[in-house]
Amino acid sequence: MNLLVINCGSSSLKYQLINMEDESVMAKGLVEKIGLETGIFTHSPSGKHKIVQKESIPNHTVALNMVMTALTESKYGVIDSLSEITAIGHRIVHGGEYYSESVLIDDNVMEALEKCIELAPLHNPANITGVNACKELLPEVPQVAVFDTAFHQSMPSEAYTYPLPYEYYEKYKVRKYGFHGTSHKYVSNRTAAFLGKSIEDLKIITCHLGNGASIAAVKNGHSVDTTMGFTPLEGLAMGTRCGSIDPSIVTFLMEKEKLSTDEIYDILNKESGVLGISGVSSDFRDIEAAAENGNKRAILAIDVFNYKVKTSIGAYAAAMDGVDAIVFTAGLGENSASNRKAICEGLSYLGITIDDERNKIRGEENMISTTDSKVKVLVIPTDEEMAIARDTKDIVKGNVLDKALS
Ligand code: ADP
Repeated sequence: MNLLVINCGSSSLKYQLINMEDESVMAKGLVEKIGLETGIFTHSPSGKHKIVQKESIPNHTVALNMVMTALTESKYGVIDSLSEITAIGHRIVHGGEYYSESVLIDDNVMEALEKCIELAPLHNPANITGVNACKELLPEVPQVAVFDTAFHQSMPSEAYTYPLPYEYYEKYKVRKYGFHGTSHKYVSNRTAAFLGKSIEDLKIITCHLGNGASIAAVKNGHSVDTTMGFTPLEGLAMGTRCGSIDPSIVTFLMEKEKLSTDEIYDILNKESGVLGISGVSSDFRDIEAAAENGNKRAILAIDVFNYKVKTSIGAYAAAMDGVDAIVFTAGLGENSASNRKAICEGLSYLGITIDDERNKIRGEENMISTTDSKVKVLVIPTDEEMAIARDTKDIVKGNVLDKALS
């Protein structure tokens, strides 16, 4: 069974073709700058040379056509014909309160995705465009939606309700949704497997620390709280996003600096976080380099970031009445030993001791706490594409069975 995983942004399309017999990636790639003057198509087939094409790519259907051609082409292709693609799994950012798990896409699902546009105006339209482009090119192939928000739908109402007039929840569905759900679910399941325990018996805090960053409290396999909220702006300090701040700062700055809603939105989303504090970069590698050279604001940015992660871990240990394992994942979580060390340093009261030698690892599944550490600390590389492919496989298989039984 070969599955195509698609992740559509407003001007980009990422894909992976995965052979589910052995979960090997047959090809992957990226189409960038769709709709702009010159688009870039990068296709990396397994065991063959990578190709990079630069040309005008006016829309997602054209982009997908290029992908399909590359997948089946004699020199760079990995399959003989498109009929070898059994199903397509789409990363969909927002499923609102409609979906707590992945779902086979039909007309009703498309309607729900449209309704969720107002909750994710930058992401859901691009995701929908990707689904429609696939429908156009491969109308017979089943498509599955895998939502960033779905895993967090298990949060209890005290975790997802904001202390605002309740009518805004009723009228506009203003509540905490949470994001990165596919990643939090994947790494929490991998953690249980690594520890040789059932996820039903574990309290896990998953720290997805990349450019966008969020933490989740996963109790017995279910998300009970997470740091991102109504939008991915809430929670931790991030590369360019401010995370949680006093909401009064927004109106204060708008008045002082005479800012429009678009301008303040851009400041909070694109000019804040560790970029805003350091003035150096949104990338931790640059900030760490500046900090090593004594740049005080770079040092402060790292300290603020780590402090928010540490205090959120404390909050989630409280939310779950304890914690068995803490997991680091995504770009920073998988690679930065110094951040992991600094975050865990003030957590000895929880029973956490980091093994400095083990903590040197990068990007591989391993335990970084000492053997006698009460709480296990792990690094688990996330693989959202594989998680999407596995869900897609389960749903398509279930669907075939359902049809056979009906
Ligand atoms: P996203 O998918 O949200 O764009 P990633 O998970 O790819 O983010 O993480 C990207 C971030 O990870 C980079 O901005 C960088 O700050 C951090 N990162 C990646 N590699 C390293 C490293 N070796 N050391 C420190 N930070 C790193």
